[in-house]
Amino acid sequence: MIRTRFAPSPTGMLHIGGLRTALFAYLFAKKNGGEFILRIEDTDQTRFVEGGMEQIIDSLHWAGIHIDEGVDAHGASVIQKGDKGPYIQSERFSIYKEYAMRLLESGHAYYAFDTAEELDAMREVQQASKQKMIYDRHSMRNSFTLSDEEVKDRINSGEPHVLRLVIPENEMVEFDDLVRGKVKIHSSEIDDQILLKSDGFPTYHLANVVDDHLMEITHVIRGEEWLPSTPKHILLYRAFGWHPPTFAHLSLLVNEQKAKLSKRHGDVSVTDFKEKGYLPEALVNFIAFLGWNPGTEQEIFDLQGLQEAFSFDGVGKAASVFNREKLDWYNKHYLTNMPLEEITRRVLPFFKHQGILDTDEIDDIDELKRLEKTVDLERSRVSTLSELPGALGFVFSDDLSYDPLLLIWKKATAEDAKDKLGRVHELLEGISQDSWSKQHLELTVRGWIEEKGYGFGDVLWPLRVALSGQKNSPGPFEIAEVLGKRETLKRISTATASL
Ligand code: GLU
Repeated sequence: MIRTRFAPSPTGMLHIGGLRTALFAYLFAKKNGGEFILRIEDTDQTRFVEGGMEQIIDSLHWAGIHIDEGVDAHGASVIQKGDKGPYIQSERFSIYKEYAMRLLESGHAYYAFDTAEELDAMREVQQASKQKMIYDRHSMRNSFTLSDEEVKDRINSGEPHVLRLVIPENEMVEFDDLVRGKVKIHSSEIDDQILLKSDGFPTYHLANVVDDHLMEITHVIRGEEWLPSTPKHILLYRAFGWHPPTFAHLSLLVNEQKAKLSKRHGDVSVTDFKEKGYLPEALVNFIAFLGWNPGTEQEIFDLQGLQEAFSFDGVGKAASVFNREKLDWYNKHYLTNMPLEEITRRVLPFFKHQGILDTDEIDDIDELKRLEKTVDLERSRVSTLSELPGALGFVFSDDLSYDPLLLIWKKATAEDAKDKLGRVHELLEGISQDSWSKQHLELTVRGWIEEKGYGFGDVLWPLRVALSGQKNSPGPFEIAEVLGKRETLKRISTATASL
């Protein structure tokens, strides 16, 4: 059974790069009928952020990623599910300790007593003589240079110490990466990694390897920044006598200036995008293409489609450029093509947030239908949900002000505009409430214009501006339908009076 995991540290909101890692791990598991696990790596308590774990789960749920095992949420509470838990590393400290001791006993790990100052001094010497800056096991204070007796005494007297991994000398460490192919690194480049810190806490490396093994992870899919750590992990697996999982390191996400995506350059968290009014379907579709392509021209994929199409054959090594315009293109696509009721339901919180509605739950069917028609006016003209309330402000306004010049079509005069608005007002007054629909209005007004021999622009331009107050807007008949008869006539009168 294929088992993948997403193993974030809860250090704040979920970064868009984190969502991509989670998505690829999820897609790979689902494509292969496997399981996706969420593990929280919070061994570094100094980087812990309150609510960070909840944020991550919330963002995964929002994106539609289903967690099969591990940490999840049930309502407002965080839960853990599965029989290989706990899945939060801070609840597993005794396990790491036990496994670290196994390495000590088998000779794969050793104690070291160096102080920060001593380590600094070692590095200074190395730097000055242009040597590699890695821990020098043979000159520092550790189990190699001290007698067994001395080591024991120091430990018993409570002297601060760490546990380090013995990196074998003069050996090529190799592994196959699903994205990068064969990766090789010489052991002389690898530091004797600290496994247990002086406070007794495990390092990321120890905890990560122990957990991936005990949780039976078959594929470790993570960001490229972890690639340099992998040889250490390979050696750790070997030291334990375990079979390592398969690795896949995803390329870096960069912005259009080829710099690493960072908060300084704009939005980077999933929450930012959610609040800006991006649809999860669009964000997921967009993110899937950051580093992967299906090998066909197809660009639109829902999560199910991605699950079927995903494969590491389509994942490239090159840095993936986060192109905001492309994201907007995806969002516009989903805004325009998703069912209107769905878009309306999702935009309600934005209406509420922007003070246009005082609730985001509307039970009244007629009101909801009217709102849907309203949303339909602009949904294909904006890029995000959060732009919709602003774009539709003119519909909700009960006091439009007019720029009289805007009401006048091309070479026409104010007199002309006034005249046409007066006449169209009269015509519309005669249309009954029951037949007040876009189609009927359009048919009636166009037929009437033709019959009278007016120019279309001479009537429809001032009419549209009278109803919207704007230079650019949807067409007059769609707006009139949404406004209803009374409001339509009222706006035409007000516009006429302003001329
Ligand atoms: N806790 C690491 C992170 O925050 C996990 C890296 C890994 O997947 O091994 O990215």
